[in-house]
Amino acid sequence: MSYTSEMIDRVVAKNPGEKEFHQAAREVLESLAPVVEANPAYQKMGVLERLTEPDRAVLFRVPWVDDSGKVQVNKGYRVQFNNAIGPYKGGLRLHPSVNLGIIKFLGFEQIFKNSLTGLPIGGGKGGSDFDPKGKSDREVMAFCQSFMTELYKYIGADVDVPAGDIGVGAREIGFLYGQYKRITGLYEGVLTGKGLTYGGSLARTQATGYGLVYFMDEYLRAHGMSFEGKRVVVSGAGNVAIYACEKATQMGAKVVAMCDSTGWVYDEEGIDLAAVKQIKEVERKRIAEYVNYRPKAEYHTDGAIWDVPCDIALPCATQNELHLEHAETLIKNGVVAVGEGANMPSTPEAVHLFQSKGILFAPGKASNAGGVATSALEMSQNSQRLSWTFEEVDQKLHGIMVNIYRNAAAAAEKYGVAGNIVAGANIAGFTKVADAMLAQGVV
Ligand code: NDP
Repeated sequence: MSYTSEMIDRVVAKNPGEKEFHQAAREVLESLAPVVEANPAYQKMGVLERLTEPDRAVLFRVPWVDDSGKVQVNKGYRVQFNNAIGPYKGGLRLHPSVNLGIIKFLGFEQIFKNSLTGLPIGGGKGGSDFDPKGKSDREVMAFCQSFMTELYKYIGADVDVPAGDIGVGAREIGFLYGQYKRITGLYEGVLTGKGLTYGGSLARTQATGYGLVYFMDEYLRAHGMSFEGKRVVVSGAGNVAIYACEKATQMGAKVVAMCDSTGWVYDEEGIDLAAVKQIKEVERKRIAEYVNYRPKAEYHTDGAIWDVPCDIALPCATQNELHLEHAETLIKNGVVAVGEGANMPSTPEAVHLFQSKGILFAPGKASNAGGVATSALEMSQNSQRLSWTFEEVDQKLHGIMVNIYRNAAAAAEKYGVAGNIVAGANIAGFTKVADAMLAQGVV
């Protein structure tokens, strides 16, 4: 049995029930086979055994008081996966579906994504099964303060720097930062995604969505295409989806559909992003409201957003939202490229189908790395006590995304899987981390 197959079996046996973590680990390990065969030191030094076991995983109780005076209790998590190339870095997710397996899948992916950015950041992830939906600002603050009262023991500007993810935006980061500062007395860049008045970076809000489109633009151009005149479907209506829609539209595409977890909207004239921002960022309401702004648009709760014919699909909502039958429909309707804005939104069966049919397919760990890259730029600005302009940050982000595409494409070519950006991204991300681990000895 090969070293990588052995490792896949080991991950499944040692982490029972963590199906998302198995899925993410299998995908990475399968594509590393040519690299580990070419470099026997990786096996001798147990690099894959160490890489698939987090440095540590912290689990804690988060008690808080709701508006009726009742005590509520949630689970809190922080998984510090690997810090071979820099302090742990990765978001916090607040969603009822959160469990240890989901946090481990996200933390594992983060190791390779962060390495791909070319910046000195390790991989980690955290969160809670708390559901911010329908909670008052005071309840969200009470939760965030309680969460940080435990989390602060494990993080720091040079140790572990959390950020936002599903359910964690500027409001939550503000409450978390306030509590960290209050407990420790430190004013340091311990979180990213901060507000602009207290150390945040311009363009961080836009970074993941814009970065996705910069990545896809480079990928399309390498194949003689561009966003100009293309029909695009973007799933989700959160931070990543909104700014992917904005940049794709600026690049001449027409985004015709978006969704949230309750339904999807189709607007043949092109999505009115100002309306989506008002509904989602200001009023925190459901996407169903969209038809009140655009009477000709349609709102659906049946079928899937992937039924809408498009040239480019950008899944930006959540993991495993795009299944095999969705991939079949997209291909039947003529899709030419699929770029993941979310983490692992396409199931393995869907990914294989896209690749076997020659669809340009970009895996999230490469194409959504713009968010964490800009978080690392926020860390640089914080440690220098400087603020760069929007244009400066945006330009750096653009350069980083172009490099990620080129490095992933080059790694795929070098290891005999030319054109496979999934394998190329895994290989390019892995090599840097693995070599740092070898250099640092058995730790
Ligand atoms: P948000 O919470 O801002 O938005 C998530 C959006 O997806 C919401 O509109 C949500 O709808 C929708 N959604 C969630 N679950 C489903 C579902 N099952 N079906 C349809 N829609 C759904 O999160 P982000 O935009 O920050 O994150 C989205 C994805 O991008 C995640 O996978 C995240 O890990 C990834 N990501 C985010 C980064 C960032 O910088 N924010 C960086 C890199 C990756 P509803 O409101 O109804 O729940």
